[in-house]
Amino acid sequence: MTFLDVDGLTTRYQTSKGQVHALEDVNFSLEKGESIGIAGESACGKSTLGLTLIRMIQGGKIISGKITFDGESILDITESKFDNDYRWKKISMVFQGAMNSLDPVYTIKQQFVEVLKEHDYEGDSEKLIFDSISSVNLDESVLKKYPHELSGGMKQRIIIAMALLLKPKFVIADEPTTALDVLIQAQIVNLLKKLKKDGMSIMLITHDLAVLSEIADKIGIMYGGGMIEFGSSQDIYKNPKHPYTKGLLESIPTLRGGKPKYIKGNPPNLLSPKEGCKFIDRCPEAMEKCKKDPPRFKTDSGYVMCWLYE
Ligand code: SF4
Repeated sequence: MTFLDVDGLTTRYQTSKGQVHALEDVNFSLEKGESIGIAGESACGKSTLGLTLIRMIQGGKIISGKITFDGESILDITESKFDNDYRWKKISMVFQGAMNSLDPVYTIKQQFVEVLKEHDYEGDSEKLIFDSISSVNLDESVLKKYPHELSGGMKQRIIIAMALLLKPKFVIADEPTTALDVLIQAQIVNLLKKLKKDGMSIMLITHDLAVLSEIADKIGIMYGGGMIEFGSSQDIYKNPKHPYTKGLLESIPTLRGGKPKYIKGNPPNLLSPKEGCKFIDRCPEAMEKCKKDPPRFKTDSGYVMCWLYE
């Protein structure tokens, strides 16, 4: 049974200027134990995808699509059932920049206890907190500390431990290494690798394709609110198809030297977007046909949305 299947997911935000097409017909699937990396520039729909999966879209609405998680169609269940049985318990999320939201006047332990109170947890809280702290390679001494006594890497691990507290099967991590120095980034990447080895399925959202190569079995490339290429990590890194994916990979600096290339132009405005490929204004291979929306064309391990592969 497929662990996670996302079919035609579409989410929009209503603004005073009109509807923002933040997520448009997104499709992908994961098997049990697999992890996925979601990459793309800022404002391409990555975070909205994570928030849609955990049903926490503020100011927006899921317009259409289906999410099947562990055999259950989770957009069809009521908000109270989703809140009681799924959110944080089966699907959890590490929000972007969350390590800066730890409360400075409470110890780490008090903040864990507060989370459990919110969920009316009645089991052995001490053990649950200890297990969670241990799973992110921290020891008990950290529980007596205040956030200002911890390094950035420790705070980020606390946030990940909080997301793991109720033992979810699937964790969405939104830019967990952004704003951390490279050594701490490496610690967090190693931690995510360990969690994956322990059987956790992870969705890692990042603009950094180099980080994804360490963790993801599959990769989804987002552009203009759509997932324009999806496939195994191996295929995406070794044989990228979409001109945007190629551009992203060419923009990674390498030790072999040579200047990294960059993709000229800016991402499209998602407020009432026009018909056709969203990458058309920046694509070196654009042609007349690209003024029509490209469908999904099958690749060895997934699909690509580009007329070059018709
Ligand atoms: Fe470029 Fe056309 Fe492919 Fe879009 S559909 S990426 S414009 S070639």
